[in-house]
Amino acid sequence: MQWLGLKPAPSMSYSGLLRSIRSGNVKELVLSPRQRDVQVRLKNGEQQTVPVFANDTLLLRTAEAARVPLSVRDDRQSEANAALVSNLLLAALVIGGLALLIRRSAQVANRAIGFGRSQARVQAESQDTVRFEDVAGIGEAKEELQEVVTFLKTPETFTSIGARIPKGVLLIGPPGTGKTLLARAIAGEAGVPFFSLSGSEFVEMFVGVGASRVRDLFRQAKAKAPCIIFIDEIDAVGRQRGAGIGGGNDEREQTLNQLLTEMDGFEENSGVVLLAATNRPDVLDTALMRPGRFDRQIRVDLPDRRGREQILAVHARSKPLDESVSLAAWALRTPGFSGADLANLLNEAAILTARRERQTIEDSALSDALERITMGLAVAPLQDNAKKRLIAYHEIGHALLTALVPQADRLDKVTLLPRAGGIGGFARMTPDEERLDSGLVSKADLKARLVVALGGRAAELVVFGPSEITQGASGDLEMVSRLAREMVTRFGFSDLGPVALDADGSEVFLGRDWLRPQPSHSMITGNRIDQAVRQLARQALDQALTLLLPRRRLMDALVEELISDETIEGDRLRAIVAADAAAGSATAPLTPSPR
Ligand code: ADP
Ligand code: MG
Ligand code: ZN
Repeated sequence: MQWLGLKPAPSMSYSGLLRSIRSGNVKELVLSPRQRDVQVRLKNGEQQTVPVFANDTLLLRTAEAARVPLSVRDDRQSEANAALVSNLLLAALVIGGLALLIRRSAQVANRAIGFGRSQARVQAESQDTVRFEDVAGIGEAKEELQEVVTFLKTPETFTSIGARIPKGVLLIGPPGTGKTLLARAIAGEAGVPFFSLSGSEFVEMFVGVGASRVRDLFRQAKAKAPCIIFIDEIDAVGRQRGAGIGGGNDEREQTLNQLLTEMDGFEENSGVVLLAATNRPDVLDTALMRPGRFDRQIRVDLPDRRGREQILAVHARSKPLDESVSLAAWALRTPGFSGADLANLLNEAAILTARRERQTIEDSALSDALERITMGLAVAPLQDNAKKRLIAYHEIGHALLTALVPQADRLDKVTLLPRAGGIGGFARMTPDEERLDSGLVSKADLKARLVVALGGRAAELVVFGPSEITQGASGDLEMVSRLAREMVTRFGFSDLGPVALDADGSEVFLGRDWLRPQPSHSMITGNRIDQAVRQLARQALDQALTLLLPRRRLMDALVEELISDETIEGDRLRAIVAADAAAGSATAPLTPSPR
């Protein structure tokens, strides 16, 4: 046994050892591979320890040639020693880390006592390279903000005709629509100092610091007028006062009060424009919206199809798109995507392209990127054949109905691809853009949506029978129940009549309205609602079955194609269905209804 650092000093050299072996003076060798040494027992009875190289083959070969017995020692004990040392090291690290933490928090406390100066980042002109041309698809918001820029550049044009410039402009819109980007573009265009601060930076742990930050920020800004102050995510400070649950909001309220005071404090046309952004206007304190404060509100909405195309074009400028790629087609396939989602799509596609060592971004890369964004990553192909067939029939059920139900959304494509999330396939629809834009959906539209949603379950029933249906349809059923309930309780699409029976089920904000409104109906009505919901779902399933039952052969053909190709595009599916209808194969049902 040896303790680290206590090895006996070698008195024999490595070459001496080789020589001794060759000359036959060595009786035995014991090798300790981990310790990289060898114990030498000489024929004269002496013992020596000689350090050797790791993986020394010369020694082995020499010993073998001279027929010297060589054994290898199992040195677990020394491993235990090594473990002890590494444990000690770990302990030392933890103690060191703790000491560092304590020092850090002391520094933070110091800073709090010193009352933090505003940490607003002042951006000098032209430092920000974002320009209006980098913001696409939100024309109106851009136009209104261009006005602000003009004012900051040439205030005389406005003041000479007595126009009042808004003090505060609030950008409102869902996340990722380009609010922050717009603000940066203004800074880039206006060529005036730009103070930017995020709302959460205001809200500090230490009482008073938030308010002092606000004061400090406005003091700096006034000294530099004309200029812009931008507060991103202002909902972090500007929440409805007295709404917090769980206390601890005094600080935020003080900060907000200070902000309001400062906004009242600077005179009209002083050259300071306050710009703020939020995606939760509903939680903002009403006092912030009063005239003279954020008196102008600009909506930044999710882009429509043309907007999406323009945004894609902006982001494609820096990327080598293949000539075959049509941005218009991609805009059509990405309804509901925000600007950030679209930027992400192109970026993912670029990454895939680089990984595949292609020179230009092709449609296939964009397809895979889209799937990756919407579904998670693709993994190894589906192995289990029976399961694969079942999933194929389920998805074909959805897909086929999109072609058979007149009011249904158009099928984009149906795919059978294994995914990390365990989804075996999907049928993706492209909602009618016109319908989306108008925000109006008819009863027939929604009924069609129910039928398509139940198409998967219906196909399983038709093909595998009522006892072989799977839980794979649970997501569809949830969707159907939610939609059917809304149809009954909110849209008046049932025989319960044209009444709204439920308060709007929108997201509950903890605070102002955290007590959910009571249901506005009786128990009896509740039962009738349940009945009506069930009836809608039943009817939809019936219709799906009626449409699928006589088309068993068509379904089989589609499933074969889906399994071999893994994907059927919407156009291809519609062509197959049209050809089938022309051949008149939808005749009498082959089997009685399985219900
Ligand atoms: P928000 O502040 O509204 O949540 P951002 O401005 O931070 O969204 O947008 C994030 C990113 O998404 C931007 O940096 C930009 O790359 C992209 N983006 C979002 N909207 C647009 C748009 N209208 N035009 C171009 N790019 C956009
Ligand atoms: Mg933002
Ligand atoms: Zn389904």
